Parts: sequence; structure tokens; C-alpha cells
Amino acid sequence: MKYLFLLLLLGFAARTNAQNMLQQLFDSHETFKEKALTERRFTHKDIIPLLNAAKASFEVKQVGTSTEGRSLHMVKIGTGPTNVLLWSQMHGDEATATMAIFDLFRFFSASNDAFDDLRKEILEKTTLYFVPMLNPDGAETWTRRTALGIDMNRDALRLQTPEGQLLKSLQQSIQPTFAFNLHDQEPRYSAGKTKNLATISFLATAYNEAREVNDVRKRSMQLIVSLNRNLQQFIPNQVGRFSDEFEPRAFGDNIQKWGSSLVLIESGGYANDPEKQKIRRLNYVALLSGLHTIASESYAKEAIEDYETIPENGRSLFDLIIRNVTVIKNNKPILMDIAINRRELAVFNRPEKWYVRGTVEELGDCSVFFGTQEIDATGLRLETDVKMGSKADFILKSAKGVVTYKIENGWVK
Ligand SMILES: [Zn+2]
Repeated sequence: MKYLFLLLLLGFAARTNAQNMLQQLFDSHETFKEKALTERRFTHKDIIPLLNAAKASFEVKQVGTSTEGRSLHMVKIGTGPTNVLLWSQMHGDEATATMAIFDLFRFFSASNDAFDDLRKEILEKTTLYFVPMLNPDGAETWTRRTALGIDMNRDALRLQTPEGQLLKSLQQSIQPTFAFNLHDQEPRYSAGKTKNLATISFLATAYNEAREVNDVRKRSMQLIVSLNRNLQQFIPNQVGRFSDEFEPRAFGDNIQKWGSSLVLIESGGYANDPEKQKIRRLNYVALLSGLHTIASESYAKEAIEDYETIPENGRSLFDLIIRNVTVIKNNKPILMDIAINRRELAVFNRPEKWYVRGTVEELGDCSVFFGTQEIDATGLRLETDVKMGSKADFILKSAKGVVTYKIENGWVK
């Protein structure tokens, strides 16, 4: 009995230590943050000086060239026996993890601080291969696809894109035990059917239609169980699980099949974080904690049943919902909910230019949905007409004609 108590106490102490370390990583992110990257829409020319600076600490080499001739680089860190391959931005407009990777470079090049033991453990046990911004041509025009118009993540079998060819050849030559496929997803996904944004989502990709679990996929699931627990400390109930439907053309699914335990990380949405700087910090902490888990092999003690308890991504959320407003249609009062999203749209033929438009995307009974922001408009009237696709410019008045809310382009003024 006495020993049991002692064991419990030791277990508790270990968990508390891990939580403390995560908190320290989170709190000190600003120290290691790559200050040259402050918003999402940076391009290849912005990361070249950062890669050149990384040469002072790590092996950095050009490993390929994009369709439009931009250099693709790999940064190698560490000397350990377990290989880990990490790449970001195979979709050109998904830059959050690229920012976090450059923060990691600054973390691993530092020394003489509270993280010396952590760095030592990771770099003695693993060798890390980073390929930041795998699709620089897409980043240049802030588009998902490569310059060939192909979605690289549907090119794992046909291999028509030079960037996709590179990714496969790196996986085949490095034979990583773990691979991290780093993306951004629709920022309005919810964690399950809830009002909580899925700020980070994970997927242990399937390697066949039956979604079987072999040792390779099991390790991905175990690592995700650990990553999920680590993130709950910072974003409780805001971690989701991406659908594991098998996609035979995708890199994640094929790399799992080719023998590397693949973890897909999707950066989603976080309230009041349009440039995703808060999610960048969460990526940074998640990646470091994941690398530590790999180095210490502590993922092995996780139960894969816990993977299934992470809520699946849901589509329950809109940016703003106006509830129970009265709209006059054909001279009759109609009770409506109005659900609005504020989306970034590209200026025609000027991909570097963009604007935000608040648009009505659902009308009527929205009781099954949640708004990141909500207005209770019970007793209020909308005097202008509203349709699907309308620009969200509304004035809500009380029965006495007093203006109660002004909504301009989807923002409550
Ligand atoms: Zn993506």
C-alpha cells in the first residue's frame, strides 16, 4: 500500500514536471520566435536569409527546385539514430507551421538556458530533417496548388510535380521513423459538434481502405495521444481529429504505407488570431513536445483507444450568428437566424492583394450551429432584405426604431 502510494506520487510528479516544461516552452516562445516572420503571407525571398543564417548552426542544403525555379532546402539538426522528417506548406497558403519551424531553428541554435537538457536529449536521440515551405510557388501567389495547378497532396502516386518527387525521394532515402506533415485547415472547423474551434487537429493517416492499424500507424496514434494531452493544457477542448478516410493519392496516407509513422498536424482557427501567431506558438510547443516524446520513446506507453476519444472535426461554426431577428419579407415578419462568415478573397488577377468580405452563408433556423460571436436579436428588426450571399451590412432596430446593432462587412460595430 505504501509502495502504491509512492508510485502514484512519482507518477504525479513526472506528469507535473512534464507540464512545467511545456509551460516554460510556451512562456519563453517570444525569446526564440523568428522576428522576421510576423504574418502569414511571407514568400520564398523572406525565408532565404533565415536559411542562410541557419547555416551558422546546422547543415542546410538545397535539395530541389520548384516548377518556377525557386530553391527547396533541407535543414538537418541532431545526430541521433531515430530519423524524423518534417515539412511544411506543401499547400502554398498554409504557412503557420513554417513560422514555427523557423522558431525551432532559433530554439535549437541557442544554449546555456533552462532547455539545455531538453535540446541534448532530442539531438542525441534523433536526427531531424526539416523542409520548410515545400511549395514556394504557391506561397508566392498565396494559393494551395503548385505552379502546375496540381494539388501536391494528390500527387503522391503520379509524381508529376517536382516538389512531390522531392518529398517522396527524401522519405525513401531518409527512411524516417516519424514524419510530420504540417498544414493549415479551414479555420471554422469545430472540435466535435461543439462551439469550440478546432485550433489544432491531428490525423494518424490510414494506409488502406479498411483503416487498419499496424505498428507504423499505431506509433502515429500513440504520438498524437501524447500531443493532444500536451495541448489540452493550453487549449482545453480545442483539439480535433481529422477524418481518417483513406485518400489513395495523398502523401500522408502513402508515407504511412511506405513505413514512416506519419502525424498530420492541421492549424485551424483561434478567436482573434487572424495572422495565426497564437497558433504558431502552439505549433512550436506541440512540435517540441512531440520531438521530446519521440526522443524519450515515451509514446510507447500510450493507449491507442485514447486516440479515438479526440473529437472529430465538425462543421458547426460560423464567425457570427445573429439569432431570432425579425425580417420583413412580402410585408410579413419572418423569424430568422443569420449566419455570417468573414472570408479572405483574392483580388482578381492580383493574387498578392486580398480583402475580407462578410457574407451571409446560412439563413433560417441555425439552432444546430454555433457562432464564434453571437448576437441575440430577439425583438429586433432588420429593415433591409437579406439573402444567401448577401454582404453582411445590417442595421438592427428595436420596435421603437432605435438602432441597437450595426453590422458592417460582418463585423459588429
Ligand atoms: Zn493543406
